[in-house]
Amino acid sequence: MPKFISLIRNAAGIDAGRFETVAAVRWFTPPVRHVLRYPWGFKTDNRLYISSETHIPPHKGDTMAETRKTKLLIIGSGPAGYTAGVYASRAMLEPILVQGIEPGGQLTTTTEVENWPGDTEVQGPDLMIRMEAHAKAVGTEIIGDIITDLDLSKRPFTATGDSGTKYVADAVILATGARAKWLGLDSEEKFKGFGVSACATCDGFFYRGQEIVVIGGGNTAVEEALFLTNFASKVTLIHRRDELRAEKILINRLMKNPKIEPLWFHELEEVYGADSPLGVEGIKVKHTKTGEITDIPCKGVFVAIGHAPANELIKDTLETHMGGYVVTKPDSTETSIPGVFAAGDLTDHKYRQAVTSAGMGCMAALEAERFLAEVGDDHGKDTSLPLGYGAEVG
Ligand code: FAD
Ligand code: NAP
Repeated sequence: MPKFISLIRNAAGIDAGRFETVAAVRWFTPPVRHVLRYPWGFKTDNRLYISSETHIPPHKGDTMAETRKTKLLIIGSGPAGYTAGVYASRAMLEPILVQGIEPGGQLTTTTEVENWPGDTEVQGPDLMIRMEAHAKAVGTEIIGDIITDLDLSKRPFTATGDSGTKYVADAVILATGARAKWLGLDSEEKFKGFGVSACATCDGFFYRGQEIVVIGGGNTAVEEALFLTNFASKVTLIHRRDELRAEKILINRLMKNPKIEPLWFHELEEVYGADSPLGVEGIKVKHTKTGEITDIPCKGVFVAIGHAPANELIKDTLETHMGGYVVTKPDSTETSIPGVFAAGDLTDHKYRQAVTSAGMGCMAALEAERFLAEVGDDHGKDTSLPLGYGAEVG
């Protein structure tokens, strides 16, 4: 695998050794996924997410760290971040957008998106490439970096990138989205990457002709199960209740698919398999009512039990609720710190859709513009002010 990564790195014109290995493996996941989605003909790509047009700051240790000053820093490159970039650029804020470890966000982990207005059907990664291109075209500076530290104690705010670059910003839009949740079993941890996955589009291809299981009952679980039937001989969907929370249209497709067998009222107890080479051979599931344990032989386990907000940067500085979602003022993206706005899945425990995230990205940019017009570059001010400085967007 590392050899493959270095091949891609070289193809993209990125010096070997520029990223930490772990970061590189994760960083390049989206294009690898993209290639895997078109294994029968490499339809689109070599359109790498990190293209020659994406600015990659020098890695710490390579040169002296840079400091970048901006009126508006957008952290995150999902629908919320890119939409904020479009609106902020058109407001002449010359925003900098830092993409993070998953350029394009969660939609790069799926295939068909059927509810993005204007497209009856669009591939998730393609939609995100278009959003990136749109943000770039109107003037957003897009940077391939990961924010590892964010100081919101005074304006201007300071963010530090994994590259060592410091981003100094008068206002910040947080659009770091959400990440897949795991069950927390020791055996799940042991086989992660060796038969246990949270991304069918990334890893489904490796299970041709095999029996696999999907855990969960939401839209993601149902979509993953449907997608996996392209490869697997059988998919067992294991859900802890007998009612799915996925959309009706998806449930109908699931029920009609002869390769999918739902298993109701069951929870994953343990993943087991071989140690050398490490690989899954089956799972044990427990009936939620009777406690009976059943053994299911399988080669792949896809965990699709929802997503949690990616709040690591701000969980100790901003108000959060409902399991870590950033609190915003009603009908607004203002957080508990003036000048800091939050948009998308990071703040949304209810809808968590691409279109609602994009909508919030728009709101955040308009509110940031109004904020900057009101306070200007009032640097060094204590930011521990109450919510509600009266931004009224109209
Ligand atoms: P995300 O898309 O989660 O993006 C977050 C961004 O923040 C990423 O770019 C990440 O790299 C960046 N980031 C995180 N931490 C940092 C950091 N420290 N520094 C810099 N950047 C950082 N919704 C629909 O409407 N229709 C669908 O069909 C649909 N299908 C889905 C299928 C799957 C498998 C999944 C998982 C979700 C699906 N969703 C769908 C939900 C949709 O993807 C999300 O609601 C949407 O992507 C949220 O957008 P976002 O911009 O808030 O964040
Ligand atoms: P979700 O809607 O929160 O569903 C999570 C599922 O996992 C639920 O069925 C839940 O069971 C189950 N679950 C949670 N914790 C569990 C545990 N510890 N053990 C066993 N099962 C567990 O999450 P999601 O499906 O990832 O969707 C997240 C958001 O993205 C949603 O808003 C969704 O609409 C959106 N999305 C949209 C699309 C689309 O529009 N096509 C596609 C994918 C995702 P219970 O039902 O019993 O709680």
